[in-house]
Amino acid sequence: MNYPIKISPTTESRIPTIDFDNIPFGKVFSDHIFVADYIDGEWRNLTIKPFERMSFSPANIALHYGQSIFEGLKVTSDENGEPMFLRLEKHAQRLNRSAKRMAIPEIPEALFKQAIMELVELDKNWIPKGEESALYLRPFVFGADDFIGVRPSDTYKFMIFTCPVGPYYAAPVRITTMPEYVRSFPGGTGFAKAAGNYAGSLRPMLEAREKGYDQVMWLDGIEHKYIHECGTMNLMFVIDDVVITPPTDTGEILEGITRDSVITILKKAGIEIEIRPITIDEVIAAHKSGRLQEAFGTGTAAVISQVSTIAHGDVVMDLPPIEGRKISHFAKAEIVAIRRGQKDPFGWIERFTAVPA
Ligand SMILES: *Cc1c(COP(=O)(O)O)cnc(C)c1O
Repeated sequence: MNYPIKISPTTESRIPTIDFDNIPFGKVFSDHIFVADYIDGEWRNLTIKPFERMSFSPANIALHYGQSIFEGLKVTSDENGEPMFLRLEKHAQRLNRSAKRMAIPEIPEALFKQAIMELVELDKNWIPKGEESALYLRPFVFGADDFIGVRPSDTYKFMIFTCPVGPYYAAPVRITTMPEYVRSFPGGTGFAKAAGNYAGSLRPMLEAREKGYDQVMWLDGIEHKYIHECGTMNLMFVIDDVVITPPTDTGEILEGITRDSVITILKKAGIEIEIRPITIDEVIAAHKSGRLQEAFGTGTAAVISQVSTIAHGDVVMDLPPIEGRKISHFAKAEIVAIRRGQKDPFGWIERFTAVPA
């Protein structure tokens, strides 16, 4: 903790105006924001200040060419209202993998951690108390040059704002493949939390909704048969009591930190898990013979989202009832318990450590 972050606190907190029992996701912002500028090859002007609108040039390079990346993570508090930070270094490392692919300068891991900890410490009264409520953090970095030439920006902004979020009621999702669209391919940007990946997924999502589904289940871009992921979640299938999830090492799939947490938890519990390519045909065959027990998505927002229906062309598979699913319920309960500070079997929880005077 040794970066010089200048803190200009608000003179009037907006907390009294917030109805914490009814918070719409992603629309309510806490009092403060962290901002840093990348100028002349260095992160400078490290500041925490009141959340406010910002002005920018119409020629801002990120608006035109999408040189923009983000992270998403949740912070909870213990019974004394003290923040608990989960796996911050994982998010820092992933942000830097995204940065590298998008020719954005990296953020030192220690700066990422310190900025988050100081920002959340200042706004810790914004962390909602309820079971499954949390403070959602949105770190992001984008090109800040006012220039419409196609080249990496010289200047950047790194910002973090936070939003209180209520218990996310994750209704079971109906998902469908959209073989006429591709999200990623080897050598592409699928592993990066880069703005353009999401823009490109919106049209297919709308078409999936027109067909009566909630999300697109993405297949690989070459053979259109290997299952990648779904919406902004990684996917897991349970067949014959074995959990199967696709590997992320080809760079085509976003490497979810919830995915990693679930894998770690299941392994420790002695549940068999295979990280290997899985085709849509294998899932269809398993369903047909009654061996497909569960399918679920993993992600920061909902932790676990149950999949109730999977469609692929003319095949529509209704999966076994949600209540009877054992492995996904177990994984979710473990993660919720860790987030509530009831246990920490893997040493994932970190506390705010004050800056030495
Ligand atoms: C963020 C994200 C995930 C899930 O990652 P978590 O770290 O578990 O939240 C999965 N897929 C995509 C495309 C994502 O953007």
